[in-house]
Amino acid sequence: MSIDWAKLPPPQPAPDLDSQGFWDSIGHGELRLRRCPSCALWHHPPLEHCRRCATPTEFEPVTSTGTVYTFIVQRQPAVVGYSALVPYTVAIVELDDQPGLRLTGRIVDIDADEVHIGMRVDSRIELLPGGDFHIPVFSPTLPREATP
Ligand SMILES: [Zn+2]
Repeated sequence: MSIDWAKLPPPQPAPDLDSQGFWDSIGHGELRLRRCPSCALWHHPPLEHCRRCATPTEFEPVTSTGTVYTFIVQRQPAVVGYSALVPYTVAIVELDDQPGLRLTGRIVDIDADEVHIGMRVDSRIELLPGGDFHIPVFSPTLPREATP
């Protein structure tokens, strides 16, 4: 019997003490990252204590907007659960909350060849197939209509 890799769900996250709050909040529809309540520095990947002042960090909501810092276009079916999506784009997005605060996610709603560094994006939350986890994805920021 052969395995039909195309029908398998994508790999699932394995939350730990540092990231559990991220998965809990995104599961309730809110994107939260760790932040220092003392000096306001954001930390991602999550850290239990602030790297600047050693204060215990807390999960706080971040803005949903950012800029593509870098990206790859996946053209071969290399990851189980995503083979039907090729070509697709995986980007590191710098969030507007703090220079250097970066989050990884797929870029959706745009052809892979149109994605570029510096592109403005908005995040949204999607269900990760195969389980109960939710993940952030990013789509191009729609141009605002000019005000008269
Ligand atoms: Zn701090």
